[in-house]
Amino acid sequence: MTFRTHTCGELRLTDSGKEVTLSGWVQRTRDKGNLLWIDLRDRYGITQLFLQEGESKAELLSIARSLGREFVIKIVGVVSERESKNPNIPTGEIEIKLTSIELLNASKTPPFTIEDKSDGGDELRMKYRYLDLRRNPLRQNLALRHRMSIATRSYLDGQGFFEIETPYLIKSTPEGARDFVVPSRMNPGEFYALPQSPQTFKQILMVAGYDRYFQIVRCFRDEDLRADRQPEFTQIDCEMAFVTQEDVLNTFEGLARHLFREVKNLDVAAFERMDYATAMKLYGSDKPDLRFGMAFEELNDLAKNHDFSIFDEAELVVGINAEGCSEYSRKQLDALTDFVKKPQVGAKGLVYIKYNTDGSIKSSIDKYFTTDDLKKWVDRFNAKPGDLMLILSGREEATRKQLNVLRIEMGNQLGLRDPLVFKPLWVTDFPLLEWNEESQRFYAMHHPFTSPKPEDIHLLDSDPGKVRANAYDMVINGVEVGGGSIRIHDRGLQKRMFSLLGFTDEEAMNQFGFLLNAFEYGAPPHGGLALGFDRLTALFAGHDSIRDFIAFPKNNSGRDIMIDSPSPIADEQLNELHLRIVQ
Ligand code: ASP
Repeated sequence: MTFRTHTCGELRLTDSGKEVTLSGWVQRTRDKGNLLWIDLRDRYGITQLFLQEGESKAELLSIARSLGREFVIKIVGVVSERESKNPNIPTGEIEIKLTSIELLNASKTPPFTIEDKSDGGDELRMKYRYLDLRRNPLRQNLALRHRMSIATRSYLDGQGFFEIETPYLIKSTPEGARDFVVPSRMNPGEFYALPQSPQTFKQILMVAGYDRYFQIVRCFRDEDLRADRQPEFTQIDCEMAFVTQEDVLNTFEGLARHLFREVKNLDVAAFERMDYATAMKLYGSDKPDLRFGMAFEELNDLAKNHDFSIFDEAELVVGINAEGCSEYSRKQLDALTDFVKKPQVGAKGLVYIKYNTDGSIKSSIDKYFTTDDLKKWVDRFNAKPGDLMLILSGREEATRKQLNVLRIEMGNQLGLRDPLVFKPLWVTDFPLLEWNEESQRFYAMHHPFTSPKPEDIHLLDSDPGKVRANAYDMVINGVEVGGGSIRIHDRGLQKRMFSLLGFTDEEAMNQFGFLLNAFEYGAPPHGGLALGFDRLTALFAGHDSIRDFIAFPKNNSGRDIMIDSPSPIADEQLNELHLRIVQ
């Protein structure tokens, strides 16, 4: 090897005496006058280099003194034991006594420090992403992502899945999120769309007989960017034929547990299962965080008819028990009240009951309820002395959502949401349809290809909103990691579904004729799911944000700051694409 015999993370005390060649970037130099050290960095680690006035050649010292941060050099030297060892890095027991330095390339002074904690702001680091990517935390994230993708492929290969690519230039459809579109030069006035997911293609693959398909695939959605959404993101996309919902859940629970084992050396317990209705009732969320309890208790029967109009007028009175919080001060309770009253949460107020350690009960509704009354509340919560009950009331759906936000806040405050503890579950039996007040029509909650539960099909005409779907989500720590469904494979039912969603027959044929046609040629029962790969990787690392788990992400306005995209294109290109009338 001309450039290196070893990497900068490789050498140990047992290598002492060896002559080695290393190449890398100068992390820093320390010049103590007669002694000079250089930290040399590459993807694998940092190795300390050493020079001494009098011992090392004058020319070497002068090259060393001219090196700046991030200069690229190749060195030759001898591994020797360090006098003062650094237990924090694997190469901390050795240093290299230099015999030669070759400058491979100089570097401008980087605009931020290439350290674990950089002084650069978000935008600056994105502009110089290649410098940001040199930092340990990002390197570790991408290494984790790599290991996850390899482990995914090896597990699915072991289960007989074929990795098959589907096209990126497809057809725009009105359902779902907004499409990114690409003008077709060869077909004036016509557009491709970038796929929001390979959904219909993977179903077609099932019709084609490839009964186990997967793809680690980029998906594109032109949504208004909420925090931590990326316009392009990656899914582990999968589909299987001749399977029940149970088969799909078991297969992908297997994948997730395999990843935890391979990548994190963790044995996670079998996933809990919870239907959507239960998740909403107990946690006010279809993605409950099960790292902690605080399940909801409903209190209507105890709350009503005590001349407390707020409860009397409420559709639902519901609360949680925060164990061990009875000592919360006035100030802390006021802060919680302010928290639930924030417009983003939207509650009108907060009622509390303190079950004090001495057994007494104190509440914010003492005026309306006797101690005996409140004892019943405490029993309902199964509370112990020392607990604090927090209660919200109002319209049913809104109140559950508000209490979900409060429950998560309490989980945070009490340190119950350790990012490195993992509590996965399947949420099943989602509603098939969602009513939209604004457009006065039903939308598919998952997508239009999801099948209704056979026992609910009779409700499709009479009470569509009540129909449950064979749809499921994988949820880990309150994060929806992915979801899928058993699909419709019957042309008649699929047509009926399109018509429920407001498509005329003609529109359905126009948009999805290829699928309806395929269903006429022996479509097998099938189902599958997709897992958000960026999100899953971030979660494995204990992070909320996906941005630093993508090598080249976009910022919050959907821009790539490094390459400065999107950008205008030349008139000539516009003309060629038929996007401008030629003068
Ligand atoms: N295509 C679906 C999605 O992207 C996942 C699935 O149903 O398999 O959400």
